[in-house]
Amino acid sequence: MSSPRARRALDDIPVYRPGKAAVAEDHKLSSNENPYGPLPGVTARAAAELDRINRYPDAGMTDLYAALSARFDLSPDHFAAGTGSVAVLFALLNAHCETGDEIVYAWRSFEAYPIAVDLTGATGVRVALRPDATHDLAAMSAAVTDRTRVVMVCTPNNPTGPVVSADDLAVFLDSVPERVLVVVDEAYVEFVRDPGGASGLTALAAHDNVVVLRTFSKAYGLAGLRVGYAIARPEVAESIRKATPPFSVTDVAQAAAVASLDSQVELDRRVESIVQERVVMVAALRAQGWDVPEAEGNFVWLALGDDAVDFAVACDPVPVRPFAGEGVRISVGSPEVNATFLGLAAAWREAHPR
Ligand SMILES: *Cc1c(COP(=O)(O)O)cnc(C)c1O
Repeated sequence: MSSPRARRALDDIPVYRPGKAAVAEDHKLSSNENPYGPLPGVTARAAAELDRINRYPDAGMTDLYAALSARFDLSPDHFAAGTGSVAVLFALLNAHCETGDEIVYAWRSFEAYPIAVDLTGATGVRVALRPDATHDLAAMSAAVTDRTRVVMVCTPNNPTGPVVSADDLAVFLDSVPERVLVVVDEAYVEFVRDPGGASGLTALAAHDNVVVLRTFSKAYGLAGLRVGYAIARPEVAESIRKATPPFSVTDVAQAAAVASLDSQVELDRRVESIVQERVVMVAALRAQGWDVPEAEGNFVWLALGDDAVDFAVACDPVPVRPFAGEGVRISVGSPEVNATFLGLAAAWREAHPR
């Protein structure tokens, strides 16, 4: 008897394994979540939608696209939303790539990239980060071939932290053929303070082949509701919409996203306080003797190499995110939890002098 067999592209894709149960959710520094709850007014407007969940959501996402259109001064056909920007990326890659194509991305970068890439059947081409944990855009440009359909650029880079500079991105975009899509993943853009950092929107204004990815999961604190979006020229946005399952973003999530966009002053205040906490963490870690790359997201990176997993274990009861053999990513949480983590990091350094 033969049993059904999934596509070979799935053979190397890992099955999601849940981490530790949410015993210490308030202490979690492992998922780059926002320590603040929803912005003011968001819960009420989302809850108002609960009375009509017998209805399908607005598949045209009219209010959300109108709000994004007003925010970015681009017509609504420049946007394509989905259940998180990871889902938008899946749709984008499925719309543009298939077996035989190549997709170039930096590594170490976001762990969802290889999954999204491999699912299409295309070949992932990984280009190592530079020693300072930044993208090597010259090497990424050199990795582009006739088969390349998409290049992914993550700025700030998850999990290492630095941005791509505006100058580097401009040179890179001039070097890449216009038929290659360049995805600029700006999941953490609100936290960037480096004035030399690249802007996906500036890049999009100059190059038709740029796709900017944004999310409500990080700065806006809506990770649990799943809303993200692409900004691209209308033909590209349309290709993403076509490849996105209809009705995927609920009206509850759409309402929460629109309400969050209305709360800009409080958003800025919260983001600034997280940035201040980040500055404190980086300074304290460097004072302890750690080598910390520039941190422009809501997380910091310690390149612990083979000690990564042991360090994460030593951080108990504060969950952090180890990448075995490479390093540990620590999210910026509440001041109390960050302080607890800094104490654990100091103890590790005392026990492991260089
Ligand atoms: C968190 C994150 C996202 C967004 O994830 P959502 O699916 O929107 O929750 C996208 N890219 C990177 C690099 C991220 O770290």
